[in-house]
Amino acid sequence: MTPEPRPSVLEIAAYVPGRASSGSAGKQHKLSSNENPLGASPKAREAFIAAASSLERYPDGGATALREAIASRYGLNASRIICGNGSDELLSILATTFLSPGDEAIFTEHGFLVYRIVTLAAGATPVVVPETGLAADVDAILAAVTPRTKVVFLANPNNPTGSYTSADQVRRLREGLPDGVLLVIDAAYAEYVRRNDYDAGIEMVATRDDTVMTRTFSKIHGLAALRIGWAFAPAAVIDAMHRVRGPFNVNAAAIAAGVAAMGDNAHVDRSIAHNERWLPEVSERIRALGFGVPPSVGNFILIDFAPVAGADAKAADAFLGARGVVLRQVAAYGLPQMLRMTIGDEEANEATFAALKAYHEGLGVG
Ligand SMILES: *Cc1c(COP(=O)(O)O)cnc(C)c1O
Repeated sequence: MTPEPRPSVLEIAAYVPGRASSGSAGKQHKLSSNENPLGASPKAREAFIAAASSLERYPDGGATALREAIASRYGLNASRIICGNGSDELLSILATTFLSPGDEAIFTEHGFLVYRIVTLAAGATPVVVPETGLAADVDAILAAVTPRTKVVFLANPNNPTGSYTSADQVRRLREGLPDGVLLVIDAAYAEYVRRNDYDAGIEMVATRDDTVMTRTFSKIHGLAALRIGWAFAPAAVIDAMHRVRGPFNVNAAAIAAGVAAMGDNAHVDRSIAHNERWLPEVSERIRALGFGVPPSVGNFILIDFAPVAGADAKAADAFLGARGVVLRQVAAYGLPQMLRMTIGDEEANEATFAALKAYHEGLGVG
């Protein structure tokens, strides 16, 4: 007889990553996974290569050097940092650690898909709450709380919408949640945000015992291939997560490259400057073509095809793909008439404008 997985596992729709290529001939502009168009820090690349000299050794299971590099960069206590094989792994560890069958985890309508996956994998029940204007709605989240609520996942900024929740609103959310509910603030894109009323949540985590912030090296640090994430959390949460994590969950090359990346502020600054230059221009030029572009504070935008008569996101994706422009379908996020575009380098951005313009013209509506 075939062994049966936990029933909720069969409710999981496996995560579909952004495509690397459309399969068309010629150069591919991969704008489907919010990767850094400037690549990794050269210092991180050197450290990765140097790590090849001792591949027979297990890594430091506690990723001490990496935790210390992060702690020193952000002025945190290293013992309150835990590293993971991507922040996805940390989200999974949090779900496994805190959710039991019968518990509920809340996240928002267009929130990051991993929250649903890790909740179901833990045998718990996902509770999806509506957003307002493609952004998290604190009142809707609070209204969904029940005695079974154990975890609230908030992506801030959110992927794929690009919206963010202001520090005041996050505080209001936290204060409105009952005691004992874990708030997980996923701040994967925090470095990109240029808003005075935004806060990644460090202060809140530092001063409470029920809130966690997760971060990643996959986005601004350009190290997605190495799978490095970290979380800042209360001591008791860290202790519980260490019991659950794999003994050597972050590999040696990742630790070495991560330490070097943490020390390369110039590369982070260049990446921020690139995004600051291109995010407004990409948004405005695509709006000028007639498509909708909701405001984004991340390194990506949504392109809404609904405002253009005859346009269709799936057809546009195929049209762009044939021209080597690889965007991301977001129907799985409840946004079937939109595509997500990562801010690329100049060539990729120009290729996207040209392809979108050609697609629009091909619709015969001017
Ligand atoms: C990309 C992303 C992550 C990071 O995932 P890693 O596992 O660290 O690569 C986490 N949360 C959100 C919302 C993301 O978009």
